[in-house]
Amino acid sequence: MLADTLSETLQHLENAAKAAHRPTPALLAVSKLQPASAVAELARAGQRAFGENYVQEAQAKIGELAGMDLEWHLIGHLQSNKAELAAHLFDWVQTVDRHKLIGALSRYRPADHAPLNVLVQVNIDDEASKHGCAPDEVAGLADAIAAEPRLRLRGLMAIPAPHPDTARRIAAFRRMQALQGALAARHASVDTLSMGMSEDYPLAVAHGATMVRIGTALFGARPSRPA
Ligand SMILES: *Cc1c(COP(=O)(O)O)cnc(C)c1O
Repeated sequence: MLADTLSETLQHLENAAKAAHRPTPALLAVSKLQPASAVAELARAGQRAFGENYVQEAQAKIGELAGMDLEWHLIGHLQSNKAELAAHLFDWVQTVDRHKLIGALSRYRPADHAPLNVLVQVNIDDEASKHGCAPDEVAGLADAIAAEPRLRLRGLMAIPAPHPDTARRIAAFRRMQALQGALAARHASVDTLSMGMSEDYPLAVAHGATMVRIGTALFGARPSRPA
């Protein structure tokens, strides 16, 4: 059944990309609070990349599914005291938003792992409740990431405000697209703009997303977070 939802979602993504004359973005399946069995079901249907928000929850799932050769992305806020564990567990960290994390992730990335793929998270709507750096901090953080041999700068990530006014949402996606363009001109390794979730991914795809992060539309509603 998850296999059907996956193929429908991939079809919707392809249609949205075609309508906007853009390449089809990568699908990150957001599996936070979903059981390992659901991840395994999607993996058997062909999905490889999964996004998790909580380092400890991810640790258990990654361990349980170690034989499946999956790609794991951290998309939740990373506390500095969890950077060591994250540097061991994940293939990508999408939520780097301050200098302190860069040194820690680099120091702790095991030598026998490939370099850790990193996105800079941007607080594009300047929301007090959200993590992410300010747009004018992107260049400095990106330069610092690019200087670390154990890290690979891949691009930017954002969670724009779910504003009811579509024009405001489009404006946020466009600001991200412009930031991404400027960054790619400075760093040849930059190829990823991660934005768009279940509610807004067609709009994100139309405005430059190369990776969308979809949870609810794939897995159904999430169980609530255990206390
Ligand atoms: C939970 C989450 C998603 C997925 O959200 P859905 O609305 O379930 O698709 C995407 N990105 C981030 C950062 C998230 O925390």
